[in-house]
Amino acid sequence: LEAQFVQSQKMQAIGQLAGGIAHDFNNLLTAISGHCDLLMLRHDKGDPDFSDLDQISQNANRAANLVSHLLAFSRKQTLKPQRVDLRNTIADLSHLLNRLVGEKITLEQRHDPRLYPVRVDRGKFEQVVMNLVVNARDAMPQGGRIDIATQNIDLSQPQLHGRFAVPPGRYVRIDVTDQGCGMTADVLGKIFEPFFTTKRVGEGTGLGLSTAYGIVKQTGGYIMCESAPGQGTTFTIYLPAYFGADDTPPEEIADPVRSVS
Ligand code: ADP
Repeated sequence: LEAQFVQSQKMQAIGQLAGGIAHDFNNLLTAISGHCDLLMLRHDKGDPDFSDLDQISQNANRAANLVSHLLAFSRKQTLKPQRVDLRNTIADLSHLLNRLVGEKITLEQRHDPRLYPVRVDRGKFEQVVMNLVVNARDAMPQGGRIDIATQNIDLSQPQLHGRFAVPPGRYVRIDVTDQGCGMTADVLGKIFEPFFTTKRVGEGTGLGLSTAYGIVKQTGGYIMCESAPGQGTTFTIYLPAYFGADDTPPEEIADPVRSVS
C-alpha cells in the first residue's frame, strides 16, 4: 500500500515535470533542427560535413519523437474535475487513511452537514488528502491524533493567512491538523518546493506537498500551512464552492491492454 502510494505520488509529479520540460525542450529541438537544415542546404551531399549534419538532423528528429511521447504521458495527468461533496469523498477514504496511519494514531473527521459542493478531480483530491495525512503520521512517530475538518467559509473581504491572502468568495475550507513535531520557520518556507524533504533517503521524495500544491492551485484553490516546533501542524485548503450542474463525464471504457497487466 505504502509503495503504491509513493509510486503514484512520483508518477503524478513526474507527469507534471515531464509536461513542463517537454514543452520547453520541444522549442529547443525545433531550433536545433531548423539551424541544422539550413546548414545542410549550404553543403553538397558529397561534402564530408554533410553526413555529420545528417546525423544531427536525424537524432534531433528522434529526440522530437521522444518528447512527443513525454507530452502524451503528461496529458494523461490533466484534471478531470466534477462536482463533488467532499464529506463523502473524505469519508469514503477513511478505511484507506486508517490503514495508512496505523494503530498508534487516531483519525477524527468533523464535517459541516451542509457543506458546499466543489468542483475537483476526485482522484487527485484524494491524493492531496493522503499526502497530508501521511505527512501528519510521519510527524508523530509516538502516535497521536489527526483531525480532518471541513466547513463553509463566506469571505466578504480578503482573508489573510500568513503571507497569503484568500480573495473574497464562497469556499469549502479543509483543515488537516496533527499534534506532531511541527516545523521551524526555515522548513516551513520550503515545504511546497519539489524535492524538498527532511526525511531520510528512501523515506521521503519531497514531492507530496508540491504535488498537492499544484493540484489545489489548478483547481482554483489555496493551500497554506501553520506550524511551529513542538506545536503540531495545520494544513488549510480553500476550494471555491461550485453551484453549477454536475457535469460528471461518463465512466471511461477500460483500456483492454492496461486492464490485463
Ligand atoms: P516528503 O513527505 O516526501 O518529505 P513532502 O513534500 O510531502 O515530502 O513534505 C516536505 C517536508 O515538509 C517533509 O519532509 C517535512 O519536513 C515537512 N512536513 C510536511 N508535513 C509535515 C507535518 N505535518 N509535520 C511536520 N513536518 C511536515
